[in-house]
Amino acid sequence: MAAKRDYYEVLGVQKTASDDEIKQAYRKLAKKYHPDLNPNDKEAEEKFKEANEAYEVLSDKDKRAKYDQFGHAAFDPSAGGGYGYGASGFGGFSGFSSGGFSGTFNGFEDILGSMFGGGFGGGSRASRANAAMEGDDLRYNLTITFEEAAFGCKKEISYRREEKCASCGGTGAKPGSSTKTCTKCGGTGQIRVQQNTILGAMMSTRECDACGGTGKIIEQPCEKCRGTGRTSNLMKVSVTIPAGIDDGQTIRIGGKGGAGYNGGPDGDLLVSIRVKNHKQFIREGFDLYINMTIPVTTAVLGGEVKVPTLTGEVKYNIPAGTQSGTTFRLRDQGVQKLQQQGKGDLYVNVTVDIPKKLTDEQRRLFEQLAVTFGTEYPENSSIFSKMKKKKK
Ligand SMILES: [Zn+2]
Ligand SMILES: [Zn+2]
Repeated sequence: MAAKRDYYEVLGVQKTASDDEIKQAYRKLAKKYHPDLNPNDKEAEEKFKEANEAYEVLSDKDKRAKYDQFGHAAFDPSAGGGYGYGASGFGGFSGFSSGGFSGTFNGFEDILGSMFGGGFGGGSRASRANAAMEGDDLRYNLTITFEEAAFGCKKEISYRREEKCASCGGTGAKPGSSTKTCTKCGGTGQIRVQQNTILGAMMSTRECDACGGTGKIIEQPCEKCRGTGRTSNLMKVSVTIPAGIDDGQTIRIGGKGGAGYNGGPDGDLLVSIRVKNHKQFIREGFDLYINMTIPVTTAVLGGEVKVPTLTGEVKYNIPAGTQSGTTFRLRDQGVQKLQQQGKGDLYVNVTVDIPKKLTDEQRRLFEQLAVTFGTEYPENSSIFSKMKKKKK
């Protein structure tokens, strides 16, 4: 097994970090490297697993204490430690690249909840309505032209996002009025209830109905946001689209998503890029493909042709004897590589244009050619009739 990185280092927090700091750091990483947002990205997948593993340990008081004392050896079975995560990795996560999450992981539903708007299993926002949480990520589909993707561009986009109500500062209370701590739940937003089941009386926790889980009672709701503390506003954002971006890729703009909850950070804006097709070029990665016809004479004798590229026509010398279906490569005439040096190549597939109509002179010349090649010539051709006359 490769040397493991320190769990604190993985999450980018101090050894003294609070539980909340660890959670925030983990959420950031999990959102950044989530496989749904980084399809087919092995490195992101590894980072995501690594962050999950670090969080699994550091979010658990006992495991964290063991880790602080013994380091990774605390969880390595070969070192006699307790948890047995070492060799096999985290079983519950090995399958996520193919789409299956085994939802045993604490805190995980949280993340999915904030990423996908709360529809993910149990740990939804409602049960923790007064906890600080990151705002929702928003997705915007942006269609750009082939050239804009190849050369990069700037786009102004506007969309609606939820922001803290400017009138009440997000409290939901009418300016000048006050909010009280909910007496029913004592401000925790949750109440404990006893349920009688076949196994006997069981205590469970549910959202406080008096305050809706916020822990606060608003006496006079703000008129602007009707007590929610949030308003939906039109946002304008200028998006810089890097040269080389491709259809289906996503640009993440931090902090431009929905406002955070209860002082949590704002969500992100995810701009999904759609690239329109080009009339002539087909793009694959950073390479371009184009079909071109060349005159039969050029194919036979060789010669210069003009090849369209993204930046205008370039001259290319077709060698003599070029067959139909031949592909030529023009180096560095493809698309600028995304956040890398260099460009892709342009592949030119040539089809030899066989003329369908000939002038009398052209026809005569082809017939002469036919003779020199020893090929059959048409019975009604001028040469054929001349030759028949000679034979007689
Ligand atoms: Zn308000
Ligand atoms: Zn309450």
